[in-house]
Amino acid sequence: MSRVLVVEDEAPLRRALRTSLAARGFDVREASSGEEAVIAAADYPPDLVVLDLGLPGIDGMETLERLRRFTVAPVIVLTVRDRQTDKVAALDAGADDYVIKPFDTEELLARIRAALRRSPTAERRPSIVRFDVLEIDLVNRRVLREAQPVHLTRTELELLEAFVANPGKLLTHDYLLTRVWGRGYTTESHYLRVYVGQLRRKLGDDATNPRFIVTEPGLGYRWIAEEGLP
Ligand code: CA
Repeated sequence: MSRVLVVEDEAPLRRALRTSLAARGFDVREASSGEEAVIAAADYPPDLVVLDLGLPGIDGMETLERLRRFTVAPVIVLTVRDRQTDKVAALDAGADDYVIKPFDTEELLARIRAALRRSPTAERRPSIVRFDVLEIDLVNRRVLREAQPVHLTRTELELLEAFVANPGKLLTHDYLLTRVWGRGYTTESHYLRVYVGQLRRKLGDDATNPRFIVTEPGLGYRWIAEEGLP
């Protein structure tokens, strides 16, 4: 089931979109501001984002830029007819498509389906990924190390999921704390030290000679194992 994040401040329109998308089998999350959208996307990575450009607080463009720091999910922007420059700027900033308000729901749904078909990740997210001696079942949340089960706490598992969803990428303290613990935890980097330490131990990794998680001092962590290699 594809996950769609709907970012729209007008509640009636947001609810109408939710209803139409849910009726077509999409798993829908809603956000009524850009700030909420960034948290929701970190918390529950969407396969596609529908983003209204006219938002209170941080506007649609700024929201798009923040989303693009950590997600490659297609973004379809909603814009009003006379704001041609916004539309172009949004496409330049990484939006995949646009729909002009007021729009026909069927047209938006067609564009969502088209964007998901072009997307490299959506709908084809593999449930089992392999890294070195690890086999990680993301759907059933099971981890094997050299074919032996590894017992991870919920937090350790969420941390591991964040890493394996972003192999090779530097994941900042802020990103990991927000994704795993949520809003309001971005100053708690000691949580990360503790949980990354536990995760390393359970995965048989060694911080001084890592094969899975590298510490980038003062910045964050990076998952370095390559997918699929034994
Ligand atoms: Ca709006």
